[in-house]
Amino acid sequence: MKNTPKFLIIHTEASPIITNAPRFEIVNQFHQQRLFDKSSLGWYIGYHYFLEKSGKLIQARLDDEEGMHTKGYNLSSLSICMAGNGDVELPTKEQIETLKKWINEKAVQYKIPKEKIKPHRAFLPLFEKTCYGRLLLDDWAANLLEEKPKIANITFKIEEIKKQVTLLQKIVGLLQRIIFYKSMNKGKYGAFSSSVNPEKLALTIKGLAIFVPSVVALAKLWNIDISGDDLISIILNAALVVSQLGVAFGTGLTLWGGIRKLLVHLKIL
Ligand SMILES: [Zn+2]
Repeated sequence: MKNTPKFLIIHTEASPIITNAPRFEIVNQFHQQRLFDKSSLGWYIGYHYFLEKSGKLIQARLDDEEGMHTKGYNLSSLSICMAGNGDVELPTKEQIETLKKWINEKAVQYKIPKEKIKPHRAFLPLFEKTCYGRLLLDDWAANLLEEKPKIANITFKIEEIKKQVTLLQKIVGLLQRIIFYKSMNKGKYGAFSSSVNPEKLALTIKGLAIFVPSVVALAKLWNIDISGDDLISIILNAALVVSQLGVAFGTGLTLWGGIRKLLVHLKIL
């Protein structure tokens, strides 16, 4: 029968002695004496992985091989055992480092959520064992999982992109309007009532190309959310000035209105 990991179960060796020496061989012999099945990798250790105090990780069973470590969960979990004794000593810095890597790798690989990363004792209804040791809280190992707010980030980015697309559509619409009024030579805006001047029009577009990113960058720098409409009104006013070298008094006022709006946004005014 194949093992399908749905839980990550963490154990302590519960070593009877305190030592920094490697323990893999000793635990292997112990499990051989207890007549544990030999794994396809040639080991008798009941855990899938064994973690020495040095931080060295040794695989004893393939991930899809049945484990021999937690009654009732040996075909639905992946196990790791830390050398040492969790009742009297904490895991070493090196062990924690490797365990963290292991948990993060396996949780992603088998889509195991945080609440399914548990100490051995969590599967023992009568508290027969303290494994992975009474010095460590139940959620200690689970807290080594780095939660990446992937979905929230993607949603946020989609919203940002949508905003930018809307803004771009508005800018394109605005440019089309400017071109239309210019070519119709009647001008909804007083400042546009002169005849079409391709040079001035090019200058307008050039000006916008510099102006728009500047406003957006400035708003970003100040962490201010400028709405598309605000930006359009600022751009429109700037466009009027750029396209019309002889700025009418009224246009100057509307431009000031736009800039003022920006300054208020930026809390300068
Ligand atoms: Zn255990």
